[in-house]
Amino acid sequence: MLCEIIICFHIGNKDVKQIVVEGGIHAREYISTLFLLKEIHFLKSFDLNGGIYFIPMMNPDGIRMVLDGVDFINDEKLKEILLLINESDDFSQWKANANAVDLNVNFDVFWGKGSQNVKKLAKANFIGYYPNSEIENINFLKFIEKNKVDGSLSFHSKGEVVYYGFKMSGKRLKEEKKMVKNICKINGYTPVKTKNSTGGLSDYLSYFYNIPAFTIELGSDFLNHPISEKYLYDIFKKNKDIVLTFLNCL
Ligand SMILES: [Zn+2]
Repeated sequence: MLCEIIICFHIGNKDVKQIVVEGGIHAREYISTLFLLKEIHFLKSFDLNGGIYFIPMMNPDGIRMVLDGVDFINDEKLKEILLLINESDDFSQWKANANAVDLNVNFDVFWGKGSQNVKKLAKANFIGYYPNSEIENINFLKFIEKNKVDGSLSFHSKGEVVYYGFKMSGKRLKEEKKMVKNICKINGYTPVKTKNSTGGLSDYLSYFYNIPAFTIELGSDFLNHPISEKYLYDIFKKNKDIVLTFLNCL
C-alpha cells in the first residue's frame, strides 16, 4: 500500500454491542467516504446504546488515483503498469487498489467463484493472485479479530439497493429479511439477496462471523461514477438514520 494509514474512528462506548461501518473500498465510489464523514459528524452528539467503528476509506490509494491520476506514485514501474491497464491517464472509473486488485472480491470467502470475477490485473473485479492477498484486507481482518463486532454496514455506490443474505437460508435468512426491510423503510432502497458475487467484505463477515452484514449502494443508478459531491446532501438525507437504526435493532 502506498498510503500507510487506514483511519478508523470510534464513537459511543465500548461496553456493549458494537458495529463496524465501512466505505470507500471501491475507489470510484468515494461518495461513500464523504457520506460516512458526514455521518460521524451527525452521530457524535447522540447518546449511543453501544459503539460504532467507522472506517470511511478502505482503499486510500485507489481513491487518490481516481482524484489525482497516478502522478503522485513514485514507483515508475508501477505507474507504467497502471497506465497500461487503465489505457488512459484518466483514472476516474478505477475501482481497484494500486495493485490493480479489487478489494471487495479479494476476501477469502468463496474466492474466485463470482460471476464477474477477473483473473488478471484490472481496474475492476480482479480477485488477486490469492485470497486475502491485499494489505488493506489483511489489516481489516486483523482489526475484526481484535475488536468484536455484532454487525456491519458496508457503503458503496450506486443503484439504491441493499444486499443481504449471503449463502443464507431458513431462520437466519428470515431474520436478515426483517432487518433489511427496516433499513429499506428508511432510505426507500430495494433489498436484494446476494447471489452471484463472492469474496466481499460483507460476505466474509456474514459467513464466518455469523453477524448481520449489509452492503448498501448509495445513489441512483442514473448517476455516473464517481457520483458528484452535489448529490451528497440528498444521499445523506435519505441514509443518515440507517446506522443508528441498525445498531439499535441488534
Ligand atoms: Zn462497490
